[in-house]
Amino acid sequence: MGTDDMLIDNSRNQEQLDLNYLKLYYGKLFPHADMFKWLAYGHDGKHPGCDQSYVGRREFSFTLDSDIYIRFQSFYSSSDMEKAIKEKCPVKIDIGPVYSVDPAKRLAYGQGGDNAFTPVERELIFDIDISDYDDVRYCCSGADVCSDCWPLMTVAIKVIDFTLRDDFGFDHILWVYSGRRGVHCWVCDGKARRLNNEQRSAISDYIRVYKGSENSQKKVSLVGQALHPFLSRSYTEVLRSFFEDKLLCTQNLFLNEERYEKILEMIPDECFNIVAVTSELRGKWMDNKRSKDDINTTRWGHLKHSLQSSKQKAQGLRRCVEEIVFAFTYPRLDMEVSKHMNHLLKAPFCIHPKTGRVCVPIDPNRCEEFDPAAVPTLSQLLGELNAAGLTTEGEDEFDRTSLGEAIRYFRSSFLFPLLKSCKEEIEAAYNTEIQQSKNSMSW
Ligand SMILES: [Zn+2]
Repeated sequence: MGTDDMLIDNSRNQEQLDLNYLKLYYGKLFPHADMFKWLAYGHDGKHPGCDQSYVGRREFSFTLDSDIYIRFQSFYSSSDMEKAIKEKCPVKIDIGPVYSVDPAKRLAYGQGGDNAFTPVERELIFDIDISDYDDVRYCCSGADVCSDCWPLMTVAIKVIDFTLRDDFGFDHILWVYSGRRGVHCWVCDGKARRLNNEQRSAISDYIRVYKGSENSQKKVSLVGQALHPFLSRSYTEVLRSFFEDKLLCTQNLFLNEERYEKILEMIPDECFNIVAVTSELRGKWMDNKRSKDDINTTRWGHLKHSLQSSKQKAQGLRRCVEEIVFAFTYPRLDMEVSKHMNHLLKAPFCIHPKTGRVCVPIDPNRCEEFDPAAVPTLSQLLGELNAAGLTTEGEDEFDRTSLGEAIRYFRSSFLFPLLKSCKEEIEAAYNTEIQQSKNSMSW
């Protein structure tokens, strides 16, 4: 394969990652100090309650261009971290947990015992990937994504963000575009970081409705139970309107026999009159009369009418409408990522090596506006930097590129409120400790 083939790749949006470009990006644009501030969670301050060892116990791992993978690195200062990133120029930076001891020195500590090397803190994380939706999208498959299927990610952000804030009371949540085909979520509240694996599993199970199974067409099961308030709210506030107003038509879910049969198969066959219901519907849909109305909307209307009509006393059939909507729209989580503290997750602001796009934060309150195709690429940013000329004093380089908006959002909506609450938490814990030691001395 000659270089010409590579150029063709470039034109198809598959930017080949150029290490010289990446070096410039780490040198001029990557927000090293902000990233370090975030991961220090206030412990880099001067307050006597700060745990100076905290940030140095965090695992960073680098994937180098040569496919060499360096795990268990740790940094005690922002400049240490910055220096290592600039020197090694990793094509990917992953963030792991905070361990009981400095991960770089883990071998010095044996297994077991009080000083055992074990994860003690980790953000609660979620990983959602559009390739897990291949059975419900007809526009793309695999790693491909377009403006017709991306809204499935938007819906996932809305549903999960809502429950994390409302049902679990978390405040410091960062959503990040993974650079190609999905989104990552970092829940950074102190009480989220200190969850053990069991508690993480419990939260993931709470959120999970979709139980993926290779053989079964029906991927959710809500029948026979009252809808949990969280699910019921997700349905009425997000999923139903998304399904009916958008997905139904953009994916042409009822376009042909193959597609509508897939939906008819979701009707539970334990219902005594399923044969009557489905054959009536098939009858209506067989003659493909042209109509000015959208065929998908019309057929969905028929199906809803049949299942929800007063004749259908069986709860199962009525619930089935909701089940179909859930099967097509409900967030699909990579459960393993959320359940274990020691799972690594790609750092925000990395460059995706295949697309060249920056892993920028996504504002959950404006996630409908997020367009993955509009996310700046590495070469675009460097072009903007070139065009902007020299910086004036006090101006950050990133402010003169389209990365500026992403970094300003990261700071104002996530980092600053987070650090404020970390400071309060550290002070409160310190005061409690002082009080306790005073009390014990007065015995
Ligand atoms: Zn698509």
